[in-house]
Order: sequence, then C-alpha cells, then structure tokens
Amino acid sequence: MYENILRHPGPTPIPKKVQLAMNRDIFSHRSNEFIELYRETIELVKPIFGTKQEILLLPSGGTAALEAAAVNTVSVGEDVVVITVGAFGDYFVSICEQHGFNVHKLEKQWGQACTAEDLRAFIQPLQNIKAIFVTYNETSTGILNPIAQLAQVVREESEALLIVDGVSCVGGAPAEMDAWGVDILVTGSQKAMMLPPGLSLVSVSDRAWQVIEENKTPSYYLNLLSYRSWAEKGMTPNTPAVTLIYGLHEVCKLIEEEGGFAKTIARHELMKNMVRSAMTALGIGLLTADDYASPTITAILTPEGIALGDFLTHLKQHYHVDFAGGLGHLQGQIFRFGHMGYCFPSDVLQAVSLMEAALQDFSYAFEPGAGVRAAHEVFLAAQRK
Ligand SMILES: *Cc1c(COP(=O)(O)O)cnc(C)c1O
Repeated sequence: MYENILRHPGPTPIPKKVQLAMNRDIFSHRSNEFIELYRETIELVKPIFGTKQEILLLPSGGTAALEAAAVNTVSVGEDVVVITVGAFGDYFVSICEQHGFNVHKLEKQWGQACTAEDLRAFIQPLQNIKAIFVTYNETSTGILNPIAQLAQVVREESEALLIVDGVSCVGGAPAEMDAWGVDILVTGSQKAMMLPPGLSLVSVSDRAWQVIEENKTPSYYLNLLSYRSWAEKGMTPNTPAVTLIYGLHEVCKLIEEEGGFAKTIARHELMKNMVRSAMTALGIGLLTADDYASPTITAILTPEGIALGDFLTHLKQHYHVDFAGGLGHLQGQIFRFGHMGYCFPSDVLQAVSLMEAALQDFSYAFEPGAGVRAAHEVFLAAQRK
C-alpha cells in the first residue's frame, strides 16, 4: 500500500517523467535516431559538468568510470596521490593499488574535508606525481571537498592531472570543470542524476587527453580513446545503455524545466540547510561542520540513548522512510539522510516529520514539532528572498 520513501544517498528516486521516457521501444545504437538523441543529450549535460569538452557515456556503474580514469592516465609503478576523507576515497586508493600505482595517501579524519593547505603541504615534497585523485562529495560522511581550491594548488605545485570522483554530487552541486581546471570528472547515474544505476559519465580536459594519448592503457572496454573517436560520430564503441540515455535526456529537460542548473543547485543547498537546522533544533548532532557540508547528503549522529539499527528499521517499517546507515567504523554511530536528485523541500519536511514520530516512539526527549518548524523556517526564509 505505502511506497517506500527512499532517502538514501544513492540509489535515489526516479521522476515519473523519466520512467516514462525510458519506457520507449528500443532502437539501434547505430541508427540516426540514436545519433540525434546522443548528440542532443551530450550538449544538455555539458553545463552540468561545467565543460565544453565531450561527455563520454559508459554503460557501467560509477566504479568502472573511476577505473577508466585511472587506467587511461597512469601506468604501473607511477606515482599518484589519492586524497581520502572517507569510504569512497578509500575506494579510489584500492583501484589505484589494484593497478600497481605507487600510491601516496593523503588521509583525513572521516567527517573532515581536505583543504588547499593540506594538499599543498602534502605534495610539496613529492616529485613526479602523475595524477591526484580526489572524491568531490564523500558519500560516507557528507563532506564536499573544495575542488576549486584543490585544483588551484595542483596547478601551482605540480604537473599532475586532477581526477575527480563526482559520483554522489554532480547534478546537485556546482561543477565548473573547465574553469576550475579539473582534468577528469566522473559521475554515475543513480545519485544526483535521478536515474537508475548502470550509466556513468566521464569528461576529460585537453591536458588529460594528451596524457591519455601517450599512455599504454591495459583495458579494452574502458579505453577512453575509443569512446572519444566514437563520440565524434555521435555513438559509443559498443552497445550503450540506450534506455538510460533516453532517461538522461529527460533528466536534462527536467533541469531546464526547473529554471536551469543554478536553480537545481540552489534547491540542494536549501535542502541541506533545512536538514541541518532541523537536527540542531532536535538536539541531534551532525558529523560535519557547516563549512564543507554536502548539499546532497547529511550524516546525522545517532540520537542520544537510541539503538540506531532498531530506530532505522522502525522508521522503515512503520513510517516507510528509508535512511542509510553509516559505513565502515561509523556504522552504528551515524545515519545518512540523502537529499539529492528527485528530492524537494517538501520531501525534507516529510522525512523530518516522520523521524520525529519515530523519536517519540523511542521516548527521545525533544519538543515535538521543533525539527519540522526549524526546517520550515529555513524554507520560508528562502521563499522570501
Ligand atoms: C556510489 C559512489 C561510487 C560507486 O558508484 P557505483 O555506481 O556503485 O559503482 C563511487 N564514488 C562515490 C563518491 C559514490 O558515492
């Protein structure tokens, strides 16, 4: 009877219009219909990446696109820096280690961001760094690393490429790939892009293409040069996720309908502020400070005196709202409230109100309605602007 209210930081809900768009009959990926759809879709996606470069579409999860970024630019034994501030940064470390790169790991405590000063101090003594890998939005902690500032440091202090995992925020956070000087930006379909899993998007700077052209890439399926040459013809090297590309086209149309990508970003910023104010009003802590807080996911500390696993199960069973737990050592200590993609201020009010109901069931001491009121005040203030 009830629909599950999915408030995970990926996968995320799919808009009805996108579902309908994906319901079309399939057509050949070598047909003129496909070429037209492909070309139009790529042009619509470029502003979301902040780039004039080609957007390459891989029929894969985000991880394969991260791996593509790594193996197309770096060879066995070469030095790289991987910045890790949580579980997904550690993922990037594993990918690089798996391929035999010499990894210099810049690690920050979970819940903190990597600042420009951190990066400068770390890379200054290093030499011959081929690439620097960083997670834009750390999905395990709700931290948005300051990519613009990090990119500036990379340019000032090294010749390295800057490779950015934007899987859990591109589509909901600002991305100015060209202006910031990001060399490769990657995202996936099932987070802020409002699509089912199975499609990833990659964009590459001119500088990075030069490196890729000289690199001996060991992968056939993930060879970006092959994606580039087919993209020139409005196609992909192999059969793409055609259905998801219909969906991606519709997602871009919905963003246009919202009033442009700046509006979409502002909505995410507003939802972040609503969630943070609500938790503070309920006396519930947040993992991250305000300055680098993510616009797409908020990590919330376990309310005092509550068994988190039971609380999340109760919320799902009785109120049909589904939050994500913590990853790694934060399991049991935090839960994650996803507010990205097809999510609106009204959804935040709904989730906070249901959370209050569960807090009451667990005899948590708070003033009923305080969280909803705080979130609503933030919402109203934004309407008055
Ligand atoms: C989800 C996620 C990934 C992995 O994407 P898959 O589609 O599961 O392969 C990588 N990085 C970040 C930051 C993510 O949030």
